[in-house]
Amino acid sequence: MVNKVTTATIIGLEAYEVSVETDIQNGLPSFSVVGLPDTAVNEARDRVRSAIKNSCFSFPNRKIVVNLAPADLKKVGTSFDLPIAIGILLEENVLDSGLIENYAFIGELSLNGSLRGIKGVLPLVLGLKKIGITDVIVPIENVKEAALIEDINVYGAECLGDVVNHFIESKLPVCKTDPKLYLNNSSNLFEYDFKNVKGQQKAKRALEIAAAGGHNLIMMGSPGSGKTLMAKCFASILPPLEISEALELTKIYSISGLLPKETPLMANRPFRAVHHTASANGIIGGGSNPMPGEITLAHRGVLFLDEMVEFPRNVLEVLRQPLEDGEIVISRAKHSVKYPAKFMLLGAMNPCPCGYKGDKEKMCTCSEFMINRYLSKLSGPLLDRIDLLVNVPRLTAKELLNIHDSAESSEIIRKRVIMARQIQALRYKDLSILTNAELNSELIKKYCVIDQKSQLLLKDAILKFGISGRKYDRILKLARTIADLDGVQNIEQSHIMQALQYKMFDL
Ligand SMILES: [Zn+2]
Repeated sequence: MVNKVTTATIIGLEAYEVSVETDIQNGLPSFSVVGLPDTAVNEARDRVRSAIKNSCFSFPNRKIVVNLAPADLKKVGTSFDLPIAIGILLEENVLDSGLIENYAFIGELSLNGSLRGIKGVLPLVLGLKKIGITDVIVPIENVKEAALIEDINVYGAECLGDVVNHFIESKLPVCKTDPKLYLNNSSNLFEYDFKNVKGQQKAKRALEIAAAGGHNLIMMGSPGSGKTLMAKCFASILPPLEISEALELTKIYSISGLLPKETPLMANRPFRAVHHTASANGIIGGGSNPMPGEITLAHRGVLFLDEMVEFPRNVLEVLRQPLEDGEIVISRAKHSVKYPAKFMLLGAMNPCPCGYKGDKEKMCTCSEFMINRYLSKLSGPLLDRIDLLVNVPRLTAKELLNIHDSAESSEIIRKRVIMARQIQALRYKDLSILTNAELNSELIKKYCVIDQKSQLLLKDAILKFGISGRKYDRILKLARTIADLDGVQNIEQSHIMQALQYKMFDL
């Protein structure tokens, strides 16, 4: 008789049901696994054989065929060990198939029979719940993560023996994880705080606006102006994650194997600082078994490109489409996967190759030709997707000494950001967006209404500075965020003026 054990595999961020069918016949002893297994699944044979023997069960000395169905679904990873072992133990009558109905099994076995943690537990269990599984057994290492999902019984087992015992003698305890316990709601836990950044009011204000509305921002300034420090502080003024966002992020980090050991849930918005030597694949995601890239790891958070102009042009160009769509599709011969990529782009750059154009103390040694070539690396279409451009001048020693006011802490700035985000959440509660930055041109017409005076002001600016249509929309979105930070319903002329400041200087 053939028995069937339920498990799942992951493609992209989604889990798909896999049935592990086991058939054992009399014949020359052999053990084969069919159904498009990759090498890790093949190695499962050796691990399963040793694990069963070392857990003091007998391993059948007959012809074993394991089929992972459906055959056309690609199976990756080591999580099939446990369901394969269970299938064999069912055939050997160690377990009764009636007991495992509505159960699913996930886990890698080590040779001594203990269970090892695997990647992607959260999406796997979520997928199993969707197909009607009521109980799932996972490695103890992954149990807290799996138990984030409601309305499914999750058990953590240390070894194969525990799993068998669960059905025979002592049931494993059901584990529950409350995601609220793991969310970080305080900004005091961040390493960098704006209270340690002297001066630079305009840049700080721009960062506050960016955080409040989810806008993309580039800071331009000489070395030593504090751009990188302010970028690092940016993480501390971002609003806390909603639980739904945290779970979405946890899925991404779980399949990437990047979930921090000490917590089953991503507690903070990600801040991904990427070096300019990173490959386009590393940034957008890829590989033969596609994995999320930096833009997906920065989902709901920040992608920081320091020395932005140093990035190869092709790398900067690949950012354009995800910046527009909030997702990335990676196509492979047999299937394509879609990863979310709603991130804020934060860039920092020098104003010229030597770095000192416009500096009060050091002379710039670049020719106009060199500067133009340098700036042209940021193409127009990419810049069109940047909402805020801000100059960050280097402060002289004297200027720094003259600043006596203590700087605002991140905690205070963050409170204003959270308030502005709450206004947006309420306004867009019936839409699938959270921030002003996500408004499309149709929604802009509805939510960014300005009076006639403001329209004239904008028209003047457009003529004077040659602002494109796409930028017109971006200015309106920015003004919307500035009005939200002020806590007022209508966009006023002063909000438009402020928004224009950050669009005025152009590359
Ligand atoms: Zn220069």
